[in-house]
Amino acid sequence: MVTLEYLVQYAKQTGFIFQGSEIYGGLANTWDYGPLGSNLKKNIKEAWLKKFVKQAPNVVALDSSILLNPMVWQASGHLSGFSDPLIENKTSNQRYRADKLILAHDPTQKPDGWTEDEMYDYIMKHQIKDPVSKTSDWLPIRKFNMMFKTFQGVVEETANEVYLRPETAQGIFINFKNIQRSTRLKVPFGVGQIGKSFRNEITPGNFIFRTREFEQMELEFFCKPGTELEWFDYWINYMMKFLKDLGINPELLRAEPHAKEALSHYSNATTDIEFKYPWGFDELWGIASRTDFDLTQHQNLSKEDLTYLDPETNERYIPYVIEPSVGVERLLLIFLLNGLEEEKLESGDTRQLLKIHPALAPYKAAILPLVRKEHSQKAKEIQALLAEHFDVVYDETQNIGKRYRRQDAIGTPFCITVDHQTMIDQTVTIRHRDSMEQTRIAIDSLEDFIRKSIKF
Ligand code: ATP
Repeated sequence: MVTLEYLVQYAKQTGFIFQGSEIYGGLANTWDYGPLGSNLKKNIKEAWLKKFVKQAPNVVALDSSILLNPMVWQASGHLSGFSDPLIENKTSNQRYRADKLILAHDPTQKPDGWTEDEMYDYIMKHQIKDPVSKTSDWLPIRKFNMMFKTFQGVVEETANEVYLRPETAQGIFINFKNIQRSTRLKVPFGVGQIGKSFRNEITPGNFIFRTREFEQMELEFFCKPGTELEWFDYWINYMMKFLKDLGINPELLRAEPHAKEALSHYSNATTDIEFKYPWGFDELWGIASRTDFDLTQHQNLSKEDLTYLDPETNERYIPYVIEPSVGVERLLLIFLLNGLEEEKLESGDTRQLLKIHPALAPYKAAILPLVRKEHSQKAKEIQALLAEHFDVVYDETQNIGKRYRRQDAIGTPFCITVDHQTMIDQTVTIRHRDSMEQTRIAIDSLEDFIRKSIKF
């Protein structure tokens, strides 16, 4: 696997990811997605929508607001409890997440379920040092709420305070009744949503792994109490299949169940699907069985009846919920880490290759005229034809070998070359990214060929 430094350089040079606000010296830990990165993000979201909404059993979509009534965050517990344990070093004034400091010292520890006192005692007992000041001169741990606060309207006073959502899930819970009524869906059913979330993380970093602004893809799957653990297993398998079908090496994945004593008070099962990043296994995708906690909280505070009447048994209950939740950027990161390599060729040369599933590739095909003067017009016609259906790119600069290499490096699965023969019989060559094999195909068959190849 390439290093993170290599990936950052590559992502900038090729146009996947640029540093945010770069011409002003940047804004720490913000990233902009360039022509390739924005296409890849779009394709990841489309793949998730296809598998987790369109083709999933009984799942519909939602697009709810980022700004919500602050009572939502009171009910969900975010106002009082959405905080990380912050620890500050007296000498350097650097701040850290206490749990991450412990994990950096000893990755076998599980500080997730510890109290602040337990974390502080561990840090002092093991004399964990600040990497900057090299001292163990720590202030007591305090809770740091990660929600971004702002004001709605022209007056900046407490009554107008609103928060940028730290997760998309609550938008789903508060619309549970609306969705159930308008769709007439019967439990079990799910609601999927993609959207921006914001967390004022204490220690963002590792490129796009942890940022303060990110995009989440969340599914809330409502089911009958008592059936939730079956659905929990169902969705874990579904998530794993999704990743493997899209080409992630299974050896880089593992499912890590949270220990019973480390579970949140409302959860009866939680598992992290982890990926082996350059710094080791770390969270990619979380799944939690959240019982009826969220709907009950909203029912209590809003005084709206959020129960469900089972039409078959006439039972009335608040459904339980299973929540798989993943960041678009984390998936983007693992598709790049999983696929990028310097491949040694038989000729002794090396080529940079991004082995990414055609469904995700930023461009499905590159259209290349062999000789610009003779073939560019025909190549542009083919580009226009295919652009009706797919993201494709046209390239006429430099020799054909260099153009192939450029497309290999950005993961384009097919290079379509227009040559002398094309002008005679309306066929083109297709060069396959991974095998570098070339085959001849009629222009009329291109659309069908690409469509079949990008299916997953
Ligand atoms: P952590 O403990 O690492 O801060 P978490 O377990 O609180 O994270 P969740 O609330 O479960 O994270 O978030 C669900 C998913 O959203 C994560 O698995 C991850 O893919 C994504 N995610 C969460 N926080 C961030 C972030 N700051 N930047 C990018 N993606 C994030």
